[in-house]
Formats: sequence, C-alpha cells, structure tokens
Amino acid sequence: MTQNHDESTSFQLYDHALELLVGGVNSSVRADPQPTPVFVDHGEGADIVDADGNQYCDYIMGYGPLLLGHDLPDSVRESISEAVADGPMYGIPTDVEVKLAEFVIDHVDSVERLRFVNSGTEATAAAIRLARGYTGRDKIIIMQGGYHGGHESVLVEGSLDKRGPSSLGVPETFAEETIPVPFNDGEALKEVFERYGQDIAAVVTEPLLGNCGIVLPIEGYHETIRELCDEYGSLFILDEVITGFRIGGLQCAQGKYDIEPDLTTFAKIIGGGFPVGAIGGRAELMQEFTPTGDVFESGTFNGHPVTMAAGLETLQFAKEHDVYSHVDNLGDQLRSGLVDIVEDYAPEYTVVGTDSMFKLLFTREAPETFDGHCRAGCVQDPDCPRFDLCPKTGADVEAGETDRWKRTFWPAMAERGVLLTPNQLESQFVSYAHTEADIERTLDSYQDVLSMRQ
Ligand code: PMP
Repeated sequence: MTQNHDESTSFQLYDHALELLVGGVNSSVRADPQPTPVFVDHGEGADIVDADGNQYCDYIMGYGPLLLGHDLPDSVRESISEAVADGPMYGIPTDVEVKLAEFVIDHVDSVERLRFVNSGTEATAAAIRLARGYTGRDKIIIMQGGYHGGHESVLVEGSLDKRGPSSLGVPETFAEETIPVPFNDGEALKEVFERYGQDIAAVVTEPLLGNCGIVLPIEGYHETIRELCDEYGSLFILDEVITGFRIGGLQCAQGKYDIEPDLTTFAKIIGGGFPVGAIGGRAELMQEFTPTGDVFESGTFNGHPVTMAAGLETLQFAKEHDVYSHVDNLGDQLRSGLVDIVEDYAPEYTVVGTDSMFKLLFTREAPETFDGHCRAGCVQDPDCPRFDLCPKTGADVEAGETDRWKRTFWPAMAERGVLLTPNQLESQFVSYAHTEADIERTLDSYQDVLSMRQ
C-alpha cells in the first residue's frame, strides 16, 4: 500500500479535482475517505485497482449496484455492446425495456406495471407524487435514519412533534408534510395516524434500513404498516432501491419478509451498473401516471436501452447461476467471522446485516448488561438475551462513533487492501466475484486492525 499519501497519484488527482468539482467529488460520501479519496483506475473481479496501482478488495461495490462485481459476464458485456452499437438511445420505445419490465413483474409479486426512471431519487419522488395524486392527500411518513434520495419531500428530519428540513434550501413547508418516525416502532406510527390519518398519502420505508448501519425489521413491523395504511386509506411505498434483487434473491426483500406494499421503488441492481430507477405496483395505481393518468412522470433517458440491456442480462445471469447462494453464503461467513472477532473486543462493536449486506458498527456506550457477543442479525430474534441492546432504530445506530470509524478504522483497513464504505452509516456489499479467500483475508484484516485499538 502507498505510505506517502502526499506523493500519490490519488492525492494529486484529488488536489486537481478540488479546483474543478465541488468538494472534488460528484457525490458527497465520496469525499469521506481519509486522508484522500481513492481514485479508481479500473476494476478486476471483486477488486479495484487505484490510480497508484494499489489493489483493494472492494466492499463498496458502487454502493450496491454491482451484484456481479467489476467484471461483467460475457452475456452482459455482449448485450451492452450490441445496445451501444445500435445507437445509444432513441427517445422511442424499444423491446428491451419491455423485457426487463416482464422480468421484474414475473418475480416480484406486488408489481403488475412498471415505469423506468434514472435513479432511486427519481423513483421515490415519482412514487410519492403518485401516492399524493391517487389519495388527494399531502402528508407522508418516513423513517428516522431512512434514506430515499435527494429530493425535498424526503430531506426532512426530526419527529412528529419537532421536525425540519435536513438540508438548507428545503422549504419548511416540506417538513410540515413529511413526518419522520422511529423504524420498528408500531406505536409511534399509530400515534401519527391517529393524529393525521385522513391526511396521510403514504408511509415510505425501506424493508430494512440500509443507509443507517443496517437495521433489520422486527417481526410484525411491516404488517403494522400494512394494517394502518389499510385502515386509513394510505399507500404503503416500499423502497427497495438497495434491497431489490439483493435481499431475498429474485423475490427481493418483500418476498423474504412477506411484505405487501402498494408501490415499490427499485434502482441500483436492476440497471446492471448503469443509472436507473423504477416504480412498480398494482396496475390500478400505476395507471395514474401519465400518459394513462394525470400524475406527471416523464424523462428523456427513461428506459435507456443500454441500461435496460445491462439490467436484463444481469438479472438473467443471476437467475441462471448460483449468484444469490454464493453472495449470501459469503455474507454469512463474513458476519459470523466478524462476530467471533468482535467477541474479544465486546462490548463496543455490533455486527449487522443479512444476505450479502454487512457492517460492523461502533457503538459509543457499552451497555452494562452486555455479557456476550452479538449475533449477526439478532434484531430478528426477540429471544436473544441481548435483544434489547441491538440497533432497532436509526437513532440507535447514529449514536455510534461514526467519526472515529472514518478517521482510524477505515484508513487502516485500506492500508491492508480492504476497501470499506468510509461512512459508518453506509452498508457494504459482497458480490458474486468475491471468494472465500477474500473473506478470510478480510477477516484477518479486521482482526489485525481491531487488535490495535486500546
Ligand atoms: N433509496 C434508497 C433506499 C437508497 O439507498 C438510495 C441511494 N443509496 C436512494 C433511494 C437514492 O438512490 P439514487 O442515489 O440512485 O438516487
């Protein structure tokens, strides 16, 4: 690994980028790595090689889209090349967008119609507009610690009684219409419905919180959302931007957790590494979008043929190969290996995740009753003696030592050739390109770095 960062190519590229791009990056989390963001030269399987020739085992995986890793299988590559050779895009329908829609509809029970857009942000913005248009109501409920992209309706934080915009530039009026509640807290949700039930267009949630360290749903939480939405005539929007075609395999997280949403948003994996988003749901709801209905939705790049080809071939490859068993098994190995390692350092760490998502959380305070190690995914197991101590809401995770993680742990792992998401709240992903040897090497690095701590 590079020792003298000041002389590295990444350092020089970043220095130059700082003069030209806002903060030297095009998405804020990319500026997090200390001391300097790694500039990528190219990907190789599960690895990336940086501009200085350093090779890292990559668990960022594009923040989720790269289910198959960095080397695309021949079938995916050929399909993309053909789409490019035919002409990049038309603004006129193509068969491939219909085929990708058919694939999603065939595998995800709640989806009868789809609309493709270009990002997860666009997908959730359009789904919320659809819910508002359909119900004729303005308020939505979101989860504290949840994330649905960068648009005004979801850039709101706080609670029922005290909330406001989470970014400058978002008018206060958006915070009047958006109510954040703690994830996994059915009573808090009920309270909001009791106060504002007739004004609530939708509850918007991820199946598990994937942008807040990974918080799994407790048994019955999604059923409570479903029941309250039914009782008050609101829609249930499930944001599967991260979990779609990652958690629960081709049935997605809604299949795994038996969730029955009215609308689902997708992005990331369904574009096979290219910009994408989608809204799906019952035909009767989806037809409210233009051109069949009056809820406006349109986009120059919607259903982009190159993206559609990449997404379709990626999903078909996943269906025809052992992709999900491979990534889920490696995820299990990684989480249980981490559980064994952190046992020696308890009570300051918690291993979280499921399927091919994982994260090691740093929690600030050692609960006094903590007398054992944390089992991966224990939030799903109310019988666990330590159930009370596991993160169940976004706030539980945000209490962790996020800055310390970024400044000490992340660079030490990078020095050992393991590239993690630098922000402690962002999930990490295992891909089809990762191997058991990668997992072992990664666990050795975790062990090594954790043992250095006082
Ligand atoms: N929803 C969820 C659950 C996400 O994780 C993200 C991005 N990580 C988004 C929406 C926004 O997606 P995009 O970055 O593609 O706009």
